[in-house]
Amino acid sequence: MHYLGLDIGGTTTKAGLVDDTGGIRESRKVPTPIDDLPLFVSRLIDLICDFQKTTPVDAIGIGVPGLRSSRTHNIETSPNIPCLENVNLEKLVADQVHVPVVSENDANAGAYAEFVAGAGKGVRHMAYLTLGTGLGSGLILNGHLYRGASGYGGELGHTITRAGAPGDDTGRLCGCGSRGCLETLVSATGMVATAAELLREDPDSELHRVDGQLTSELIYDAAVRGDFVAQQVFRITGRYLGVACANLINLLNLEMIVIGGGVMASGDLLPKTAENAARLHAFACSYRECRIVQSKLWPDAGMIGAAMLARDR
Ligand SMILES: [Zn+2]
Repeated sequence: MHYLGLDIGGTTTKAGLVDDTGGIRESRKVPTPIDDLPLFVSRLIDLICDFQKTTPVDAIGIGVPGLRSSRTHNIETSPNIPCLENVNLEKLVADQVHVPVVSENDANAGAYAEFVAGAGKGVRHMAYLTLGTGLGSGLILNGHLYRGASGYGGELGHTITRAGAPGDDTGRLCGCGSRGCLETLVSATGMVATAAELLREDPDSELHRVDGQLTSELIYDAAVRGDFVAQQVFRITGRYLGVACANLINLLNLEMIVIGGGVMASGDLLPKTAENAARLHAFACSYRECRIVQSKLWPDAGMIGAAMLARDR
């Protein structure tokens, strides 16, 4: 049997033909149209038909960056792909390709991938975090993907770390419209914002000499060369990540936290700081039960998870 996993990102859509065990047989990438639904759907259909020409596809899973209602199967909100708002994507696609289609929040799909075929195989209680432009997260509880009452659960990135009185601007503005979300601190975007704040106090940092836009990769390179501000960005981000892990551990008594994403791929300053902060803030007995590990399937977790959800629908 073969399943097609689609991972829809704000700039690129990745598609992979996945076998029963979660192995990728073939994969492709296309740009994502973000504000034209007919174009979005026709690109997706072309991509799917391309795979169907050579291999029969038994079911299709689509990972979407947004909140999907498990009641109506509509995508309620997708800040980075506005044309998907209030759209039942799985129905639109299934009507044209005549194969069963499921959709799921992209980080939930990633969590499911790590659970069935990655770092979390055999684990019953785990969280998956992915640090990219934002902070995605999904939960596996009691051996099942946890969606909450209507599919919107597991959004650690939008738990609030700093909240002011109504109207004041405490906490950074988040893509979701709220202020002070964890994602505004623990993500590539958050790291750049943290660097910008620190640079105001430190005229000597080499980050002042960066040509063009500052990125988390450039901050990492400067940290490796010993730049104080850049290293401080990793320490601060790692500390917030670790506190978030401690919160998850104390709240859910997890066996494992799997962390993936582009930011994590850059050395072990961030994971080490995060682990130390988690150890410091979680109950010792609960921390001992939980392993904090790197993702095994990143950057393909979303794609594999969507395919596995289609397999297990
Ligand atoms: Zn938010």
